[in-house]
Amino acid sequence: MTETGWHLEHSYASLPEIFYKKTQPERAEFPELVLFNWNLAETLGLDSRSLQLTSSDVFSGNTIPEGGLPIAQAYAGHQFGSFTMLGDGRAILLGEQVTPDGKRFDIQLKGAGRTAFSRMGDGRAPLGPMLREYIISEAMHALGIPSTRALALVTTGEAVSRSKMLPGAVLTRVAESHLRVGTFEYAARTEEDGNVKVLADYAIRRHYPEIADQADEDKYKKFLDAVIDRQASLISKWQLAGFVHGVMNTDNMTISGETIDYGPCAFIDTYDPEASFSSIDINKRYRYRNQPGIAQWNLARFAETLLPLLDPDKEKAVEIAQQSLSAFGQLYNEYWQAGMRDKLGLISGEKADDDLAMELLDLMAHHKADYTQTFRMLALDAPEDVEFSGSERFKDWHSRWTARLEVQDATLEAAHILMRSVNPAVIPRNHLVEEALDLAVEQGDYSKASKLIEVLSNPFDDGHDKEYKMPPDDDDKVHMTFCG
Ligand code: AMP
Ligand code: MG
Ligand code: MG
Repeated sequence: MTETGWHLEHSYASLPEIFYKKTQPERAEFPELVLFNWNLAETLGLDSRSLQLTSSDVFSGNTIPEGGLPIAQAYAGHQFGSFTMLGDGRAILLGEQVTPDGKRFDIQLKGAGRTAFSRMGDGRAPLGPMLREYIISEAMHALGIPSTRALALVTTGEAVSRSKMLPGAVLTRVAESHLRVGTFEYAARTEEDGNVKVLADYAIRRHYPEIADQADEDKYKKFLDAVIDRQASLISKWQLAGFVHGVMNTDNMTISGETIDYGPCAFIDTYDPEASFSSIDINKRYRYRNQPGIAQWNLARFAETLLPLLDPDKEKAVEIAQQSLSAFGQLYNEYWQAGMRDKLGLISGEKADDDLAMELLDLMAHHKADYTQTFRMLALDAPEDVEFSGSERFKDWHSRWTARLEVQDATLEAAHILMRSVNPAVIPRNHLVEEALDLAVEQGDYSKASKLIEVLSNPFDDGHDKEYKMPPDDDDKVHMTFCG
């Protein structure tokens, strides 16, 4: 370990060489550290005070931290349904930081220059989208949704060319790993046999060690089931929070079950199953209500890569894979229903609970009500503050819900405490995120971004200023988001 706390290892780089390319970050002219995640640094075992002296150099890629071995990872993926060879075109992995309590996290610089996989891209990232990823990924983490994290944001002092010239930045992303469904798709298309097995064994040891010692006949089916289970859980959390990822390509789906790639993502304000924000998602393939179905489609692409490991007999392998994949729907429903019961303060489950939830969602859709606020007002036992409190249907719903709460084996107080612990008071609302980004990009002023990050780190607290809790006025509504 070094004075600054770096303890970098390189288990991924022990995979066959086709899985990565050694790469050096490109120099940033005038690097300046603009945001740093002190709490995360501490969890990682980094000594923030001694790091501070070198941080803009390290987190711009100008200086490789002691023990670092910069590489770009190879992967492929289905983008909007079509297969493509990809790889880290603007991300460089410095290594895996082993924390004082023995956990392992990828430390990756996003926007640190061209790599062997950059194709026509410049390897660089504009400040706006990197700040967006910082804010939203940290908010997801605080909401209890598995996610990659943001450790540092450095501006490069150089402009990057998009539709106009924009300030450039490098984001340091921290992840349990960057293994994706797309990494397996890549392995399955390499010439040599055995690459999928090597990768699967690696992923199992890293993310599902409890099955590592199983016999081969069971191991890969259990691996597939475990990934399916984690994704079912993750996507249920997205749906329950009102999160639209926006670009659920297979290269943006992790094996660890963490949310990755905050491109055109957005949280819904108004409840709308058709919600879609991404400017490039013309057919709304990745709209809010499609997310569970798309996850299952992506997992089918994952299962295909594992077929040779599931059974030597192709037909039997397909049967095993299909059986695993068909469990996704039920798993997802169970996770969603359990989460929705918590949102409604229902401590035990009853058959009619689903109808109660669906009716509330239907009312929200009908009245174009704010999703987050509606649940929070119910959690605060303030039904009069629900936007559609005047509607007869709501009054009827509310009396049935109250009656349901009263018959359960718990006090109303206990139900409301549960509700307040799962229904956030604040989410990263698009209009607030955009405001913070504009101020940072146009004036180099990070005060709004910092304040927003602080507020969002405490999402279940009602003490925040009203502007952070309330939905946008019609004029402030963000209808479209863009990738960086
Ligand atoms: P994404 O849409 O963010 O999932 O990225 C898809 C692919 O495009 C990945 O292989 C990225 O590494 C690559 N990519 C995105 N932006 C750039 C860029 N500015 N330069 C090089 N490659 C890029
Ligand atoms: Mg991506
Ligand atoms: Mg992206």
